[in-house]
Amino acid sequence: MPLFDYAPAPESRSIVSLAPSYGLFIDGEFTEAKGTFKTINPADEEVLAEVALAAPEDVDRAVAAARRAFESWSALPGSERAKYLFRIARILQERAREFAVLESLDNGKPIKESRDVDLPLVAAHFFYYAGWADKLKYAGLGPDPRPLGVAGQVIPWNFPLLMLAWKIAPALATGNTVVLKPAETTPLSALFFADVCRQADLPPGVVNIVTGAGDTGRYLVEHPDVNKVAFTGSTEVGRQIARSVAGTGKKLTLELGGKAANIVFDDAPIDQAVEGIVNGIFFNQGHVCCAGSRLLVQESIASPLLEALKRRMSTLRVGDPLDKNTDIGAINSKAQLDRITELAGVGSDEGAERWSPPCELPDRGFWFAPTIFTGVTQAHRIAREEIFGPVLSVLTFRTPAEAVEKANNTPYGLSAGIWSDKGSRILAVADQLRAGVVWANTFNKFDPTSPFGGYKESGYGREGGRHGLEAYLA
Ligand code: NAD
Repeated sequence: MPLFDYAPAPESRSIVSLAPSYGLFIDGEFTEAKGTFKTINPADEEVLAEVALAAPEDVDRAVAAARRAFESWSALPGSERAKYLFRIARILQERAREFAVLESLDNGKPIKESRDVDLPLVAAHFFYYAGWADKLKYAGLGPDPRPLGVAGQVIPWNFPLLMLAWKIAPALATGNTVVLKPAETTPLSALFFADVCRQADLPPGVVNIVTGAGDTGRYLVEHPDVNKVAFTGSTEVGRQIARSVAGTGKKLTLELGGKAANIVFDDAPIDQAVEGIVNGIFFNQGHVCCAGSRLLVQESIASPLLEALKRRMSTLRVGDPLDKNTDIGAINSKAQLDRITELAGVGSDEGAERWSPPCELPDRGFWFAPTIFTGVTQAHRIAREEIFGPVLSVLTFRTPAEAVEKANNTPYGLSAGIWSDKGSRILAVADQLRAGVVWANTFNKFDPTSPFGGYKESGYGREGGRHGLEAYLA
């Protein structure tokens, strides 16, 4: 049990001024659509705002605006485009507190994460790609790399503003224009970002935001006048998009799901590893594509490690996302909560041993206690399928070779973690892991200069770093 209780430390929500409804952002203006839908706060199910539901004709308008803007935007010297991106980065920094509160309201993530992780990384992405805009010919992509045209970008709900930054910053730096569709449960930060574009005097049509659900995303990626499709989301939808884009000449990048192995060897510093395991699976309620959702622990240290992990999990505070002491916030939607609940149920039914620390969950909203399953085998569904929630499956291994074999025994390949005191072991094991990112003695570290992306069913293409430019240049 915790040694002492924390007093409530709520961040004020008054810094965010929400309108009752929001239109689509097309050609520099907010415009209406025929349909609407509501976005709610997953922590209390309160309606936050009504948002326009883009129909095919609205997507047409947005793509046409992006096409018109492309000619002059792509003709600007890179140094001029960079000025806009630097301006956007600075405005986001100035408005960081407002955006952090907004993101926690619409998504349910703890304010300490939106404030200390999401927003700083969002600004860093815009700063980083602003720096590239006038140096594209030095990116190793030929003497005169050219933008592709209009980018249709579809993003998920787990890091709404950060995924927007990953998509929009490199697209604009390379001279493309964009139509972006945020996820239906978290549209607000993208709409506030539209306001940042206006504040930065970004020319109309360079960034367009269309809100809606899967159908709106489908119209966008299938639109014949889109030249580049960038998608982050589930493997299932990624597969559909790959099929629809095949043979059209559109360039495609897919950032999909994951089931990362976090491998702890017997010589790892246990307390440090426990922090990494907690960060790996409970950060952002486990709604992280690269979450360390499979813990592979060397058999000889399994008992003390699990004991330490349970002790640490007992100190995690679950509750109000706007409280600065909260570690685990709300699950983003009822649908996601149902999926987590179902898969956790399957874990128990299949014979794994379930454990959660005692914790009181709020009555309203969508919540799931941090959970671990021990005695998990590779055949269990909770070892194979992405749960995308605060649920850890624990497996053991005896030798490094067995660890590598188990880690790679997944259709995914987005990330992995290795905990060991020996540098040579880390390098040898990392070399054999089929994962886009391998963290050593740390986990969930992101940096705009570093490429991110998957192997196998985790997708293809890289975002971030110099590699991230390639996806937007011909
Ligand atoms: P999802 O695939 O259902 O939705 C993602 C986005 O795609 C949403 O905006 C949705 O409206 C849209 N969409 C749905 N159907 C579509 C269609 N047919 N055509 C075009 N767009 C469509 O996924 P989700 O539940 O929102 O997100 C969770 C998944 O995303 C997880 O599997 C997670 O691993 C993955 N993810 C991956 C990364 C990464 O970088 N690899 C990052 C975050 C999330």
